[in-house]
Amino acid sequence: MERDYPLEKVRNFGIIAHIDAGKTTTTERVLFYTGVSHKIGEVHEGDTVMDWMEQERERGITITSAATTCFWTPTYEDLKDKTKKNRFNIIDTPGHIDFTVEVKRSLRVLDGAVVVFDGVAGVEPQSETNWRYADEAKVPRVCLINKLDRTGASFEHSFSTILDRLSRNAVRMQIPIGLEDKFEGVVDLLRMKAYYFEGEMGNLVVEKDLSAQAGIPENVIKDAEKYHSELVEKIVETDDTLMTEYLEGMVPNIDTLKKTLRRAVIANKIFPVLCGSALKNKGVQLVLDAVVDYLPSPLDIPPVQGITENTEEHIERHTSDQEPFAALAFKVATDPFVGQLIFFRVYSGTLSAGSYVYNPRTRNKERIGRILRMHANDREEVKKVFAGEIAAAVGLKDTITSDTLCDENHPIILDRIVFPEPVISLRIEPKTKADQEKMGMALNRLAQEDPTFKVSTDQETGETIIAGMGELHLEIIVDRMKREFTVEANVGKPQVAYRETINGSAEAEGKYIKQSGGRGNYGHVRIKVKPMEALTKEELEDLPKNTKRSQGFEFVNSIKGGVIPQEYIPACEKGFREGLDRGIVAGFKMVNVSVDLWDGSYHEVDSNEMAFKIASSMAVQDACRRANPVILEPMMKVEVVTPDKFMGDVTGNLSSKRALIEGMDDRGMNKVIRAIVPLSEMFGYMTGLRSMTEGRASFTMEFLRYDIVPSNVAEIIISARK
Ligand code: GDP
Repeated sequence: MERDYPLEKVRNFGIIAHIDAGKTTTTERVLFYTGVSHKIGEVHEGDTVMDWMEQERERGITITSAATTCFWTPTYEDLKDKTKKNRFNIIDTPGHIDFTVEVKRSLRVLDGAVVVFDGVAGVEPQSETNWRYADEAKVPRVCLINKLDRTGASFEHSFSTILDRLSRNAVRMQIPIGLEDKFEGVVDLLRMKAYYFEGEMGNLVVEKDLSAQAGIPENVIKDAEKYHSELVEKIVETDDTLMTEYLEGMVPNIDTLKKTLRRAVIANKIFPVLCGSALKNKGVQLVLDAVVDYLPSPLDIPPVQGITENTEEHIERHTSDQEPFAALAFKVATDPFVGQLIFFRVYSGTLSAGSYVYNPRTRNKERIGRILRMHANDREEVKKVFAGEIAAAVGLKDTITSDTLCDENHPIILDRIVFPEPVISLRIEPKTKADQEKMGMALNRLAQEDPTFKVSTDQETGETIIAGMGELHLEIIVDRMKREFTVEANVGKPQVAYRETINGSAEAEGKYIKQSGGRGNYGHVRIKVKPMEALTKEELEDLPKNTKRSQGFEFVNSIKGGVIPQEYIPACEKGFREGLDRGIVAGFKMVNVSVDLWDGSYHEVDSNEMAFKIASSMAVQDACRRANPVILEPMMKVEVVTPDKFMGDVTGNLSSKRALIEGMDDRGMNKVIRAIVPLSEMFGYMTGLRSMTEGRASFTMEFLRYDIVPSNVAEIIISARK
């Protein structure tokens, strides 16, 4: 079977945004324009179109699944290849901050992104976080300043927040014609043409030549000329030859400019900024054209990196059907019609339905049942998927998010997606005996779908504990358990997931030796402990790296000459892990500890695994106790938007919560306060903020990093644990 689509026509991209910036509306418009773009004639009865979308929503049909495939024919007249449509695989990125990590995960499998901003607020906290994740994953981006029809909207203000807070390499690709209720169209600064959107859904794109000036206001022309030059310069700067020519007075033609811009966007050197109003159906089609023009196809991205299964050698794979099969499972979802679906991205090779894939994590082969491609309102069964494609598999039971699927004869482990550990937990108790059985099953299923959601059992009380990234995250899980699995449960108060770590290094010896009659026990280890990663000040401030501190344990085996036989080493490692999990200061799991096992001894007859495990656990506890152990707490990035007159109350209240106020800005009539606040101080903040501000302030919050708890607070935590 042959590939049905040329790869250079494929775009795997996602739409990312701060909540409420308009991601859902934009996505709906995209699906509308791509779905019925060939049926434009019918759209004259505008109402039916809106109805169609309302109904979809009411019937709860998933208009977007984890990845939705659709097709797009560019609008621009000068896109020569009109005959060939482009295939879009739109990868869903969730809206709420508690799920920012899902954005991180989707960024791993998409090749480019459209970043949507609110045209009144400009850059918001989550836009910043997502932007950094995208920087880290080197994902090329085009920006859309949305909602320009709103009162108070300002393209220039929003654009300046992008320049100031995200990147100096952002550049205007368009400017709006009119704003607020006078927002009519956009000027394309590269082509120097104006575009208006007509028809009920804005699906008729009307192009006007700027030089002809037809109905285009004078001030727009002036700005357009100024920013056109700026754009051309910015593009030319990325190419030495063009730059030299430009300095000699030669201006490249549109084709050259576009090609150069495409290269620069793909290399993350330029971020083009577009404008529109998804709600008012203005500009979305041109964003899709920009996706085609400037975002990479799977052929434009660097080869994917991985390691070999046993020797851990570094290898890479190219987007090519000829290379061995390698794919990354990036989402496990439950589909009402077909059951469990595993969404995967193929990096190299091909995969046919009915064949087997190898999973290096489980070291097992699994048979791929059906392969599906998800569309906006139907699913298509495909026989084979090719390199660079995204699809969903039915029938994989043992695959979880972030597993590699590959050719058994050419195993590879693609870089795993690193997820932060949960910061909040609560106890959950089934209401009835019948619920009890179902609850375990439901929670496991949900944990399989969501790598930031964890289920555990309290060793002492036997109660079930669920943990996640925020109050809302856990609320949604409990709600899904009720709706999808009909399990009723009582939930306890949310608790902060504290951690412990060491700030220094120490050595210790652990001996578990009992030799009185019969067969004895003999385990003896000598170890050194130190922080796995001593974070520099810069790293502490650099968000993406901060997850490091909240996780991990590193085991270094420096045993030489068999002073401890190899067969006991795994037991030692297990002992270290158990010792660390028990904690030192207040019984919280210890993280970021490196344990070096460098010496010890054994006894021919009396040594056994259990003895080494106990000796190791004792040794690691002893060493950590002397290595300056401390408690860590999750810190949240908080942004409060409040009317000016409550500013004093809000900041005063934040300060009483141990907040570090990072900055204050104006946003229209309101003030924005940015702060870093311990999670433990933020429970019930919503209610407090409302009553403080007559319900007129709002806030957003997301996990930032783990910090050391000040000693006075540590004392309170410790005594509460006793
Ligand atoms: P999401 O949270 O990013 O998915 O945002 P939504 O698409 O759900 O939009 C949030 C709110 O903003 C909704 O009430 C939308 O109707 C509204 N909205 C979205 N796009 C626009 C726009 O272009 N103009 C205006 N005025 N409102 C918009």
